[in-house]
Amino acid sequence: MEFILITIAVVLASNAVGGVYTYLVLYTDWFKKFRLQKRAYKPNIFFQRLPLISLNLLLLIMITCGGLYFVADQFIMERPPIWSWALQVLVIFFVDDTWFYFMHRWMHENTYMMRKIHSIHHRAMTPFPLEYIYVHPLEWFLGSFGSFIGLGFVLLLWGNVYAWPFWTYVALRNLHEIEIHSDLRSFIKIPILAPTEHHDLHHARVKGNYASTFRIWDRIFKTELKAEYKQ
Ligand SMILES: [Zn+2]
Ligand SMILES: [Zn+2]
Repeated sequence: MEFILITIAVVLASNAVGGVYTYLVLYTDWFKKFRLQKRAYKPNIFFQRLPLISLNLLLLIMITCGGLYFVADQFIMERPPIWSWALQVLVIFFVDDTWFYFMHRWMHENTYMMRKIHSIHHRAMTPFPLEYIYVHPLEWFLGSFGSFIGLGFVLLLWGNVYAWPFWTYVALRNLHEIEIHSDLRSFIKIPILAPTEHHDLHHARVKGNYASTFRIWDRIFKTELKAEYKQ
């Protein structure tokens, strides 16, 4: 129970950061000079998006509780050595991003999925941070499989799943999603990681750059877009 409660706290805390970040991006000029696109936000955009964002947040907590309820006992609460901790986070990220790349690309290439499901997320040509969660609930549900498959790989490789690396992954994954939907220039550029510009361009052009965290799959399958702005 403690494990599930802490997981929910991590989910809520990272989304609270997303809420504050959204407020600053939409309603203040603090970050204006770092914006990637010139397009202005509609004045009431946040309240138009709020019902689905709230529903998905609720769904996220339900999926987290529901999915973890069956496996909570398997999680080891003591902290693993730091290198093992970092490697586990990386494995979950990589597996999740691989799942996301193929699922996302399929949603673009399948006319039905694009028209009925994924087009909702693409109502945002110029996204704001909490729009990472502005998606059709089915897409949200399918996307959540990635982290569970990632945990399966950790179990396979380490023989155990540890709570602390999982919480680290959940926090970083949410913050990363919030950041890549901010429409703000990235200041930390690591060659294999996809910066905000990568996903922002996906929203601006509604194609290409299908991965979220790493650039590897877009490079291998030649779906990476040429940037209009410096990356
Ligand atoms: Zn997006
Ligand atoms: Zn898309």
